[in-house]
Amino acid sequence: MIYLKTEDEIELLRKANILVADTLAEIAKIVRPGVTTRQLDSLAEQFIRDHGATPTFKGFPNPCGPEYPASICTSVNEVVVHGIPNDTPLRDGDIVSVDCGTCLNGYCGDSCYTFTVGEVSEVVRVLLKTTKECLYKGIAQAYAGHRLGDIGFAVQQHAESRGYGVVREFVGHGIGRDMHEDPQVPNYGERGKGKQLKNGMCIAIEPMITMGNHKLAMLPDKWGVVTRDGKPAAHFEHSIAIHGGKVDILSSFEAIEKVEQQNY
Ligand code: MG
Ligand code: MG
Repeated sequence: MIYLKTEDEIELLRKANILVADTLAEIAKIVRPGVTTRQLDSLAEQFIRDHGATPTFKGFPNPCGPEYPASICTSVNEVVVHGIPNDTPLRDGDIVSVDCGTCLNGYCGDSCYTFTVGEVSEVVRVLLKTTKECLYKGIAQAYAGHRLGDIGFAVQQHAESRGYGVVREFVGHGIGRDMHEDPQVPNYGERGKGKQLKNGMCIAIEPMITMGNHKLAMLPDKWGVVTRDGKPAAHFEHSIAIHGGKVDILSSFEAIEKVEQQNY
């Protein structure tokens, strides 16, 4: 069941997503070699709660194991998604995707950004750049009358043309009062197939792209998901609304990118 949102609801979703964007920008300021992902998590949780919201991920149920213990997912290098923050310091050359969700006034925000730690290799930098491009190529297909398959096709086509893998087991999703609503938004697909996009539809588009094979394995903590070949993966996510026939990006990377530019 896809819930179409009113204009007022879209504004509430925007507020929750701007809080996610601001939280990720705070993280951008402190990501560097020596920082632990637990420190990133503490900062995020405090920042979200200080702004009157709750971190949606904390306590998220898991049918196969314990509920999610942290406020963000921090997935380092070969960890694709759902990495649990820990006390291992980040090292020069690592990448860390930080996925963040908030619930503000009953509406959810969800966005993810993959950060570089210190100096990363050129091949890794290109993986990140391409994954971000995949996200925007998917977003460019999101308008009323188009279909979910058009989004998936655009993402898959761009990633695979560069020799990368597209994760199949995890997909984007509708977003609203619940973080995960219908429909599922795969990062692969066929043009002209799948559910049609309509005004009021709000979805998270989130390509997860691997440098090697797209096959995955689960970590013993029953949350973290890694590439089976041990090669790095990147993940970028925006929440968007279909609004006036066109795409309206509710989350933002602007503040994060401003911090990144200052660091280089
Ligand atoms: Mg997310
Ligand atoms: Mg999501």
